[in-house]
Amino acid sequence: MAARRVAIIGAGASGLCALKCCLDEGLVPTCFERSGDIGGLWRFEEHPEEGRASIYRSVIINTSKEMMCFSDFPIPEDFPNYMHNSKIMEYFRMYAQHFDLLRHIRFRVRLLLPLPRRLCEGGGEPDPPLQIHVPPWPGEADAGFHRPHPASGCHHAHL
Ligand SMILES: Cc1cc2nc3c(=O)[nH]c(=O)nc-3n(C[C@H](O)[C@H](O)[C@H](O)COP(=O)(O)OP(=O)(O)OC[C@H]3O[C@@H](n4cnc5c(N)ncnc54)[C@H](O)[C@@H]3O)c2cc1C
Repeated sequence: MAARRVAIIGAGASGLCALKCCLDEGLVPTCFERSGDIGGLWRFEEHPEEGRASIYRSVIINTSKEMMCFSDFPIPEDFPNYMHNSKIMEYFRMYAQHFDLLRHIRFRVRLLLPLPRRLCEGGGEPDPPLQIHVPPWPGEADAGFHRPHPASGCHHAHL
């Protein structure tokens, strides 16, 4: 059977983690990120792209590094317990590099999805597999996907 292709929407903490887990399971994921970089909310920019939420410059996370780290990639010992946002970004970049995730991410692509019927109508039969088609990469013939995996955060204007 052909490998299942998964479209992950967003390359914040959730999208990176989803990408890594899909690879672990032998799926074929592609992550679509509408901005030009990973990190989502935690990537501070003075003027973030329109619609993208961003923390402010001095934000320190309120979850300890033991509680927030990816279970298969501990936060380095010399990082502070409650990290400044710049250290969080550093950690995300280390995670992406360690698991070679960047090559599976298409930046500056905003994926728009129709809402599943069962969410709109409430209950009922599960929707049939959703086929998503996006313009293929150079050298890629078919960019259809079997499953969407939203990881687009809840603080943006999105989807
Ligand atoms: C001010 C603030 C402070 C917070 N502080 C803490 C804290 O201290 N501790 C804590 O644990 N949590 C905190 N949070 C919660 C925060 O949501 C999570 O820490 C984390 O950022 C969630 O990651 P995520 O990947 O789900 O979403 P996000 O980090 O929001 O990433 C979503 C990504 O999806 C992309 N995207 C969105 N729509 C599309 C689309 N249609 N197509 C393609 N890409 C898309 C966005 O550009 C973004 O990169 C805070 C939130 C806010 C707003």
